[in-house]
Amino acid sequence: MNVTEIQRFCMHDGPGIRTVVFLKGCPLRCAWCHNPETQFAKREILFYPKKCIGCSACAYVCPNGAHNITDTEHIFNRKLCTGCEKCIEACCSKALAASSEIMTTDEVFAELEKDRAFYGENGGVTLSGGEPFMQAQEAVELLKMCKNHGIGTAVETCGYFEASILEEAVPLVDCFLWDFKDGNDERHKKYTGVSNDKIKRNILLADSLGANIVLRCIMVKGVNIKEDHFNAIAELWHRLKHCKYVELIPYHAYGGSKMTALGKKDNGNNAWIPDKNDIEYARGFLERLNVKVKA
Ligand code: SF4
Ligand code: SF4
Ligand code: SF4
Repeated sequence: MNVTEIQRFCMHDGPGIRTVVFLKGCPLRCAWCHNPETQFAKREILFYPKKCIGCSACAYVCPNGAHNITDTEHIFNRKLCTGCEKCIEACCSKALAASSEIMTTDEVFAELEKDRAFYGENGGVTLSGGEPFMQAQEAVELLKMCKNHGIGTAVETCGYFEASILEEAVPLVDCFLWDFKDGNDERHKKYTGVSNDKIKRNILLADSLGANIVLRCIMVKGVNIKEDHFNAIAELWHRLKHCKYVELIPYHAYGGSKMTALGKKDNGNNAWIPDKNDIEYARGFLERLNVKVKA
């Protein structure tokens, strides 16, 4: 499995106390992505200039001259990088780091088992990402291991994956935390890079297979806090038989520092942060359409 992080004692990724496994690879490219290091399936190099002490060890070991250190700055030319990771090994200040670890499912499960005492009755393991079903077979194998050992399971999904995995996955997942980013397909394409068609088809299929679902809707001011989106959420809610509630998640400008560590432009946008009134407006609108909302 290609794992970017295993995060312990999480309270917002399903019920109870949870350990979250972040898997690398996502078919979407959300403009507001808060986990950009999970987007690409292959390992990447993170560079944190503030941690760099200018020792030049990376420049010395790099076979391609990708690191250029002057008196005033460190320029990392990613175009020259072939990914040998020699510079990461040479860096003593952790200014260079790999975006992920390749682990077997047994190794990941051994990490999850260490937290078993904290899961209690409601908690457990959440697979997140990225999109966990980009590594579908490995994700299913890990979910099976959790189930066989009596550990609760949840999956955070963008919903865009091959539908054929659902028959096997649904019985293994106690709760799906399912993103629905925008009911307006033109905006969905513009801000995530894909149509919402497949996502809607997959959630309806999962529901028909008996999946427990929480519909998670990120609220991005000026983008999707709009009536057509609320109407689409309500339509979906009323078609789903096993959706517990709709959760409204205010956008936060979290992903920016990770974007720059990947050599990309900071995608944080303060204008997108909704205030309390925006969330109350969304909640009120949806409740008037008889949607159960948690905000
Ligand atoms: S679905 Fe999640 S991980 Fe994928 S691009 Fe969107 S915000 Fe990022
Ligand atoms: S990973 Fe290898 S090629 Fe890339 S910058 Fe580091 S040392 Fe150079
Ligand atoms: S090895 Fe690390 S600390 Fe030294 S110059 Fe390279 S990035 Fe900076």
